[in-house]
Amino acid sequence: INYVIEPIQKLTHMTTQFQEGITGFQRFMEIMNLEPAIKDKPNAKTLQEVQGEIEFKKVSFRYNDDLDNVLVNLSLRVQQGEYVALVGPSGAGKTTLCSLIPRFYDVTVGDVLLDGINVRDIELQSLRKTIGIVQQDVYLFSGTVMENIRYGNPAASDEEIIAVATYANAHEFIMSLPKGYHSEIGQQGVKLSGGQKQRLSIARVFLKNPPVLILDEATSALDNESESIVKESLESLAKGRTTIVIAHRLSTIRNAGRIIVLTEDGIVEQGTHDALLARDGAYAHLYSKQFEYQT
Ligand code: ADP
Ligand code: MG
Repeated sequence: INYVIEPIQKLTHMTTQFQEGITGFQRFMEIMNLEPAIKDKPNAKTLQEVQGEIEFKKVSFRYNDDLDNVLVNLSLRVQQGEYVALVGPSGAGKTTLCSLIPRFYDVTVGDVLLDGINVRDIELQSLRKTIGIVQQDVYLFSGTVMENIRYGNPAASDEEIIAVATYANAHEFIMSLPKGYHSEIGQQGVKLSGGQKQRLSIARVFLKNPPVLILDEATSALDNESESIVKESLESLAKGRTTIVIAHRLSTIRNAGRIIVLTEDGIVEQGTHDALLARDGAYAHLYSKQFEYQT
């Protein structure tokens, strides 16, 4: 029976590893003997020094030929080190847009560029190493806290792991666990709250140290206490990196250098919170509907 169960376990494993890097995914494809849809070009480039400028040039995208376009002729440039918030109604294509940067999908029409290089011409492993993704769903495996953070960079020393856990506001709660960094996570081990898991995933991304960051905030199930700690951790993670945050919380949106409003009509507005409110357009409408009850 093992030979049936194993590939299925590998499959569940794969979807989360895919977010972090290609390695687990490749292994899965090899095991299943599948040809990946997204692969390296014969002379794909390895990136050296990445600045982190991202540009979408007249991008259209549909998930397949039987479906309508999710994105149509969309252009957007995000500068190196810029912090932008992507807002808009559910289903507008925010997650889809971000998934085109690490090439989880290829554009249907147009180009996505990183530092002026078409992402299709970049070696996948090299491309995905430059992009850190923090999502609502955190993938932890059974193993120690230390091992789970080290996943962000297998070569990291214990000292480096403690340092990134500190940056992510996780050190204190880790030290309060029965065996500290050597506490086991998982069914047999310690149970962590949603906010604690998120901080471990943020520590991982610190360890990966990517120049580009995608934060898919999703509507959070975190309690107020963890929410403000996680927010603080994310803000320190974003410093000095090109950051695109898919934001639902007003507090995150307000802090953004630029807010981009994506609706089913594409990017309809861009600007600061105050400028967009003054326009009294799509953002002001979203704001009054969605955000007014938040702090
Ligand atoms: P948002 O993040 O703004 O809520 P999404 O990017 O998740 O929007 O979705 C945009 C549109 O694409 C929606 O209509 C959604 O149903 C569709 N969609 C999302 N993921 C897939 C997928 N894997 N296959 C087919 N359609 C998808
Ligand atoms: Mg989404």
